[in-house]
Amino acid sequence: MDNILPAYNDPLFSILVIVTLVLIIATGSFIMGSIKEKNNNKILNSFLKGFNTEKHLLEIDKMPFEPTLIKPLSLLAEAFSNQGEYQKSINLNLYLIEHIDSFFDKEKILEQLGATYLKAGFLKRAESIFLQILHKHPRNIETLYNLGVVYELLQEHDKALNTLIPLNILEEDTKYLEAHIKLNRLLDNKKLSNKEKVQQLETLLKNKHYSYRRVIQALFALDLEVAWNNIQPNKIDSILDILWFLPSSNLNLDIISSSETLLAIYIAKGYIQPKEPIPKSNIFAIDTIVALKQIGVDNIDLLFNYSCKKCKQHFPISFTRCPKCYAIDTIQIKESLVEKRKQTGYSLL
Ligand SMILES: [Zn+2]
Repeated sequence: MDNILPAYNDPLFSILVIVTLVLIIATGSFIMGSIKEKNNNKILNSFLKGFNTEKHLLEIDKMPFEPTLIKPLSLLAEAFSNQGEYQKSINLNLYLIEHIDSFFDKEKILEQLGATYLKAGFLKRAESIFLQILHKHPRNIETLYNLGVVYELLQEHDKALNTLIPLNILEEDTKYLEAHIKLNRLLDNKKLSNKEKVQQLETLLKNKHYSYRRVIQALFALDLEVAWNNIQPNKIDSILDILWFLPSSNLNLDIISSSETLLAIYIAKGYIQPKEPIPKSNIFAIDTIVALKQIGVDNIDLLFNYSCKKCKQHFPISFTRCPKCYAIDTIQIKESLVEKRKQTGYSLL
């Protein structure tokens, strides 16, 4: 035996044994890793096949896959998604995901697929995609934010709050988002009485992270007296539409007559008769209507338009989260003068 194998005390033999062992372990891990990756891909692909993909819209099934197609097809999918052609965008993304093996190569495509499901209103599908991404890449910040939006739309407020924990660990500033979600949770809470909600809402007015517009709008719906007592003259710009559309029976004349701006708003609206001295609001549209009333022109109304400070998109109706970019606290209210039409009793509350 001593003649066949070198002696155990030969250092060259020991090194050979160590190198062989390292090679065996490395090869084993590589094979196991590949099998695991393939299994993960199989699970993801079978999971995605569970979604109804109206494949007749684009004949991509017959198209042979080439890695050079990834970029143009993913740009095309993005363009379809932006144009509102969600099903076409989804089909292209599913085709790409099916043919790409590595998670890191298809992470962006999965993000786009999840975002398109979100835009198209397939919230449960969006949630599944975002959870799949986070399972592989828990530090994906954009996906954490998008998952929070999904839970907000599903009115699963505690789950939405849970998405803030990893975001905080990743040093994202989530104070305004936390306030936004907690306000949603408070307003949706069926266990609280209106009185309890009003008490809590009043305390939130002192917290700068809470949207004044949202809190005061909720107060006007729950308790008129508390709402009027909390009107802040320097923030009237941000609630002009809410004040404008209040029914005349909801006015608090004591508070209105103590503020020149409020008085001018309700003279312009036609709820209060103007008396000398004519009040000024320093809101151009309001002061113009009041001035026109002085010369007998009484058929001017306000039309409100809403835009997002972040993405600059315009919308005909108010929003708490931008419908286009999902930003919070970015609403801008723009009023313009229009000819008065017959009132239909419209209210924002
Ligand atoms: Zn926006």
